[in-house]
Amino acid sequence: ATMSVASILAETAHRMPDNVALIFAGQEIRYSELWEQTRAYAGALRELGVGPGDKVALMLPNIPDFPRSYYAVLALGGVVVPIHALLKADEIAYVLRDSGASLLICAAPLLAEGARGAALAGIPTLSVLVPDEMYEQAPFPRLEELAAAAEPVDTYVPRDPFDTATILYTSGTTGKPKGAEGCHFSLVEQVNVLLSGTLDLEPADRILGCLPLFHTFGQTCVMNMGFRAGAAVVLVPKFDGATALQLMNQHACTVMTGVPTMYIALLEAAKANPDRPPLRYGMSGGAAIPVAVIERMKEVYGIDVHEGYGLTETSPVASFNHRGRPTRVGTVGTPIWGVDVEIADAEVDDRIRLLPRGELGEIVVRGHNLMKGYLNLPEANAEAVVDGWFRTGDLGTKSEDDYITIVDRKKDMIVRNGYNVYPREVEEVLSAHPAVAMVAVFGVTHETHGQEIMAAVTLMPGGEAEAEELIAYAQERVAAYKFPRRVVIVETLPLGPSGKVLKRELVARFDGDAI
Ligand code: ATP
Repeated sequence: ATMSVASILAETAHRMPDNVALIFAGQEIRYSELWEQTRAYAGALRELGVGPGDKVALMLPNIPDFPRSYYAVLALGGVVVPIHALLKADEIAYVLRDSGASLLICAAPLLAEGARGAALAGIPTLSVLVPDEMYEQAPFPRLEELAAAAEPVDTYVPRDPFDTATILYTSGTTGKPKGAEGCHFSLVEQVNVLLSGTLDLEPADRILGCLPLFHTFGQTCVMNMGFRAGAAVVLVPKFDGATALQLMNQHACTVMTGVPTMYIALLEAAKANPDRPPLRYGMSGGAAIPVAVIERMKEVYGIDVHEGYGLTETSPVASFNHRGRPTRVGTVGTPIWGVDVEIADAEVDDRIRLLPRGELGEIVVRGHNLMKGYLNLPEANAEAVVDGWFRTGDLGTKSEDDYITIVDRKKDMIVRNGYNVYPREVEEVLSAHPAVAMVAVFGVTHETHGQEIMAAVTLMPGGEAEAEELIAYAQERVAAYKFPRRVVIVETLPLGPSGKVLKRELVARFDGDAI
C-alpha cells in the first residue's frame, strides 16, 4: 500500500473543487485553486532539487502559503519540518541541523530570525513574502515567483505508509527540543478517525483557524481535518479575542478549535461585542480548560466545548469528549477509535505496569497515532516508549466507563511540606471566581516547606478583586495545604506560540521572592 498526507488536499480538490478551502484577508480560495497553487509550489521546489525524503523547514504564520508549502513538500514525497514562530536564530539553526533540513521557507514577519538561523545552519532561505522595504536587501528568491515560472507537478508522489511526513519539535521544557517524527499513516488515520465518529464536520462548516498551523493541534485539528472534510478554514495569523470574534461573525464560523486561553479571550471579547457567530460547537485541548470556562461558553456563545487530550507525540488526539456521546465536563473524554489510553504505575520506569480503573498514575498511550520516535535520540525513545506504550508524563485516572481525567503534568506537581499539590485543581477553584479570567498556579522554592504555592491571575474586563480576597476564596474551598499563599494580579500571562501558559517563565520571575 502507498499513501500520502498530500492526498488530503488532492482528493478534496478532486471531489469538491468549488468548495471554499481558505478564507484569508477577506478573500476566498477554492479547493481547486489551492491545489493548483500547491502543485505550482511543488514544481518550483522540485526544480530546486527537493525530492522524496528531503526535509524542508517552514517558518510561516497562518497565511495561505502555509498549506501551499506544506502540501507541496509532501506532494514531492518530502518531509515538513515546521518551526515555532517565536524561536530565535540559534534555536532555529539547531532545529534545521538536527532535522537535516535542506531549505527554509519563511515569511516576512519571521524572515529576519529565520534567515539568520538558516545562514547559521548553512542552508538556503526561500521567502514567500518580502515587504517592499526589505526587498532590496533580501537576497532570497521568492517562492511565488519561482512557482509562476516552474512546471507544476501533476500529482503527489505515493509513499510507504510508515515513511516520515513531518518532524515536529517539542518546545523543550528541559534540554534541547526533540523532533517527533510523524508518518503518513498516523497523520491520515488520525484525521479519518476524528471525522468518523469522534466529531462531525461537514463541507458547509467554517472553522476558525486561530491555532498556529506549525503546532500539531492546528495542523491536525484545523488544517488536515478541515481539508479532509471539505470545510472552509478561516485563517487567523495572529490571535486576539476581539479580532477572532469579529472574524467568526463576519465569516459565519460554525466550528472552532482552540486552547483554553483562546476561549477565555473570546469570553472577554464578548463583553464589548454583542454579536454572536453561528457556532455549532468548540474543540479544546492542549491544556486543561476550567469547568467555569466551559459553562460560560455555553451561556455566552450557546455551545458545548468538547475537551480532548493529546500530545505532539500522539498526532495529537488520544482521547476526546466525542460528539453524540454524553460530554463529561472536567474529563478529556474517552480514547478515540483504535487508540488505547491506560494508567500505568508512575514509579516503575523500566516496564509498564498497568493500574486498575480509578487509580492515579501516569497516562500511557498506544495505537495508530503514535509517532515513529524522536529523531536522533535513541535514549529518549527508549525512555518514552516501553512495550509499545508511550509514557506521556501526565498524571491521570480512568473511570470504569473509559473516561480519562487529567490530574496534572508530573513535572508541574508541587510538593509542599511533603504533600503533593496538583496546580490544576487549584486553578479550577480560582477560575470559578467571577472576576478572574486566567489563572496559573505554580510552585516556588521555599526555605522550610520545600515549595510554596503561588498563583498568577488576570482579571476579566471590568472585574475587580484583590490578591488577599482571592487567597481567601481559595482557602475556603480547598484543603489548607493546597491554597496559594501568594497571588499576584497581572496584566497578562506569558503565553507560548500555541497559546499555552508558560509556567516556567512565571517560576523564573517569582522564584526567590519572599513569601
Ligand atoms: P513541550 O514541548 O515543552 O513538552 P507541550 O508539553 O505543551 O510542550 P504539546 O505536545 O503541545 O507539548 O502538549 C502536550 C501536553 O499538553 C500534554 O502532555 C498535557 O500535559 C497537555 N494537555 C493536552 N491536552 C490537555 C488537556 N485537555 N488537559 C490537560 N492537559 C492537556
